[in-house]
Amino acid sequence: MRSKTRVTVWNEFMHEKKDPEIAEIYPEGIHGAIAGYLRGRPGLDVRTATMDEPEHGLTDDMLSETDVLTWWGHMRHEEVSDAVVDRVYRRVIYDGMGLIVLHSAHFSRIFKRLMGTHCNLKWREAGERERLWVVSEGHPIAEGIGDYFELEHAEMYGEPFGIPSPDELVFISWFKGGEVFRSGCCFYRGMGKIFYFSPGHESYPIYHDTNVLRVIENATRWAAPVERSRPVLGNVKPIEELP
Ligand code: ZN
Repeated sequence: MRSKTRVTVWNEFMHEKKDPEIAEIYPEGIHGAIAGYLRGRPGLDVRTATMDEPEHGLTDDMLSETDVLTWWGHMRHEEVSDAVVDRVYRRVIYDGMGLIVLHSAHFSRIFKRLMGTHCNLKWREAGERERLWVVSEGHPIAEGIGDYFELEHAEMYGEPFGIPSPDELVFISWFKGGEVFRSGCCFYRGMGKIFYFSPGHESYPIYHDTNVLRVIENATRWAAPVERSRPVLGNVKPIEELP
């Protein structure tokens, strides 16, 4: 077993460069806020990568040294190259790299590829209260979280959410305006584990919230790959002697 989980925090890193109010909330970028928290937690070895680096910072070498990748994007999903989407997809499916998909990355190319559905949803930016209920009592991603936690100002994401039924549902959100949303969803794809977590609108300080950061940390530990050999596939000899 590897002593530390190697985490890469990926961010499109565009809003923070374009909008001074968002830069004020995230002076080191959204990736900087998430990575800064994770670096202070035991057993994690944390790096960051952003869109404008060569190959979006996700070279073969970088990904082969990544156990869990977190992904935040919004404005530039379609600029993520085919090569990088393929590379991340293969690393999840065949090598078991964990993937944490955050907020508006529900529309990222990699999430849509892994889900196979449109991944659309309702939304409203009114700074309303969100209450996230834990609906899977003993789930490791909910460790340290009470029955629920609240975000005073959040962007509303509402159902129907165009994803396949999650393999495990950890959070359901209620919004002041009346909608509900499957806000914490686990998926198993091949060798890999994927967690979608919906809070994270760029104009609110969501990634400074201790509960949100705790959930991301927990999800990182849950999504880390397990150690096992590649399964044998294709034509095989029988294990027992056949008549
Ligand atoms: Zn948003």
